Amino acid sequence: MADRQGVLVIGEVANGKLEASSTEMLAHGRKLADSVKEPLSIALLGQDLGALPKEAIAFGADKVYAVTDPLLKEYQVDAYLAAITKLAQQHSPRIVLLAKGPIGSEVGPRLAFRLDTGVIQDCVEVKIDAEKRLTANRPVYGGNCTATVTSFGEPMMAIVRPKTGDPLARNDGRHGEVVAFSPRLEASVVKSRVVTRVEQPQAGIRLEEAAIVVSGGRGLGSAAPFSNEIKELADLLGAAIGASRAVVDAGWITHDHQVGLTGVTITPNLYITVGISGASQHMAGCLGSKAIIAINRDSDAVIFNDCRYGVVGDWKKVLPAFIQQIKAMK
Ligand SMILES: Cc1cc2nc3c(=O)[nH]c(=O)nc-3n(C[C@H](O)[C@H](O)[C@H](O)COP(=O)(O)OP(=O)(O)OC[C@H]3O[C@@H](n4cnc5c(N)ncnc54)[C@H](O)[C@@H]3O)c2cc1C
Repeated sequence: MADRQGVLVIGEVANGKLEASSTEMLAHGRKLADSVKEPLSIALLGQDLGALPKEAIAFGADKVYAVTDPLLKEYQVDAYLAAITKLAQQHSPRIVLLAKGPIGSEVGPRLAFRLDTGVIQDCVEVKIDAEKRLTANRPVYGGNCTATVTSFGEPMMAIVRPKTGDPLARNDGRHGEVVAFSPRLEASVVKSRVVTRVEQPQAGIRLEEAAIVVSGGRGLGSAAPFSNEIKELADLLGAAIGASRAVVDAGWITHDHQVGLTGVTITPNLYITVGISGASQHMAGCLGSKAIIAINRDSDAVIFNDCRYGVVGDWKKVLPAFIQQIKAMK
């Protein structure tokens, strides 16, 4: 423990850009690093990182490990894992943070195994306790309870949900150090390769990244409102469209719109639900929303326990009036 030092964020780069989740992890990491009075570093992986290390410093990193290798040109789990393992073994961070995304979820548990430690998954809050231990809150039992978990491993690792904290304000005047790290990867570390990539056409804003989400449930009665009223409201607000599992199962909308335990976890600033009862499995995916507005004709619907504003009424009357009001305000 004594020779371990600092907080290391495993950054994610996509299409030559620092992912938003990485700037959020830097904000979480900054708080932890300041608590233990140790530096905050970030590992950025790729073949050529361009100006990204400077950007990471502007968002709070004291040090950037620029991890470059031809095998890191595109994300591949074996190559990333080998490179990050070497980096962590060489630099011995006290704490390692990853974002819960395609890379963090795949690399995080494997990295913990390689480093002979544990990892706290699906965290919504991370802090340092009185014994300088990493302590995290994570939703359990379908979001009905929150567990507080303390790490006793070395290093202490956590995988944190995106949108659980705001990035620090960008400051291009911040100073930091960029350290080149070459993992010298052998081609044999790569045990699988991507044969083909199929890009899913993205209609509208991605649910996970949306600041506003409008979701519809079984109370809509049919698929039609998703192309009419729900879409109109979402377009007006610049929102993504979500759904409950009931309507996905009914075939009214595709699964990539499903919010909840077996769907997408969202943390928008504003979440508007229309004809959704508020089952715990649905709420497990949206309780991190800053404000929930619920429209439901049943005043006893459980969603009213969790929403900030609730409208008891038939959506067929409420929604057109709501849309009119927003148009008038615009
Ligand atoms: C293991 C497991 C995993 C699950 N995962 C998920 C998940 O990821 N996401 C998810 O959503 N669900 C999930 N579920 C299902 C979940 O338990 C609920 O069945 C589902 O969320 C209900 O969807 P709903 O609210 O649209 O439908 P309902 O529960 O049928 O609610 C419809 C609501 O619409 C209201 N309503 C009806 N007509 C109107 C009207 N005209 N105007 C206004 N309101 C109206 C009703 O009052 C009612 O409250 C899961 C279940 C299990 C067992």
